[in-house]
Amino acid sequence: MDLIVARNREDLVKARRAGTVALVPTMGALHEGHRSLIRQARVRADQVVVSIFVNPLQFGPSEDFSRYPRTFDADLDVCRAEGAGVVFHPAAEDMYAPDRQVAVSAGAMGGVVEGAFRPGHFDGVLTVVLKLFNLVQPDLAVFGQKDAQQLALIRRMVADLDLPIAILGAPTVREPDGLALSSRNRYLSDDDRRVALALSRALRAGAARLAPAEIRAAAREVLDEAGPALDVDYLALVDPATFTEVNETYAGPAVLAVAARVGATRLIDNVTLTLNPA
Ligand code: AMP
Repeated sequence: MDLIVARNREDLVKARRAGTVALVPTMGALHEGHRSLIRQARVRADQVVVSIFVNPLQFGPSEDFSRYPRTFDADLDVCRAEGAGVVFHPAAEDMYAPDRQVAVSAGAMGGVVEGAFRPGHFDGVLTVVLKLFNLVQPDLAVFGQKDAQQLALIRRMVADLDLPIAILGAPTVREPDGLALSSRNRYLSDDDRRVALALSRALRAGAARLAPAEIRAAAREVLDEAGPALDVDYLALVDPATFTEVNETYAGPAVLAVAARVGATRLIDNVTLTLNPA
């Protein structure tokens, strides 16, 4: 079956086949992390729709919307090679009417951790994801754990708005040296890349400890060692469902998350760990 490129709702309706549909939302510049999401979608659904849309709503005014990498032809090759059936690639004007009024609010959970540094970001993410859900009408959607707060908020939206869609979280794909794959990694110079390794190293150092204070201290030490070339926005140890900071007595799964700028590139990463195991 050849790959169908759908550029609008009419194309999408025509591309739809009988059976179950899985959606993999992306902003393009596809890499091995996206490939793993498509593969996981494929084994669970008859037809996989990959959306490729650089969503203006989720970028702040001083962020990298205009220079975000756009590699559409190479992305089509990736989708074809991984067995996707449809690529949905709408124009921004088709997604957002100039007189639009209504959007999704991510609530208080959208204003903490990553949301504290990117005001409005998660409202923009949830709004586009809800629109994609309505347009594609998937049975299942696959998101990466790499964007852990995004994944948690999408699960929250599905629960709070009664969306009939199963959400699958997929593990973070990394380079052999630990760097989490990201479309933004292509901005990194060799020197930047060496500095950027401190993120995953810090998370590993934290994950080797058991109690919250030790975890935070071990991770912070690695970030500090990287020096001023690594400009840390936050290091947070949070409840994976709410993204609120955990206290010393918390027991159960937690997310250790970090965001930092290396030169002009902002990177995020996280690991899931178990605190105070019995
Ligand atoms: P993006 O194109 O960056 O918006 O990401 C699209 C989807 O791919 C999101 O669900 C991300 O969480 C996921 N993703 C991005 N990087 C990775 C990675 N290294 N491993 C697994 N999933 C990823």
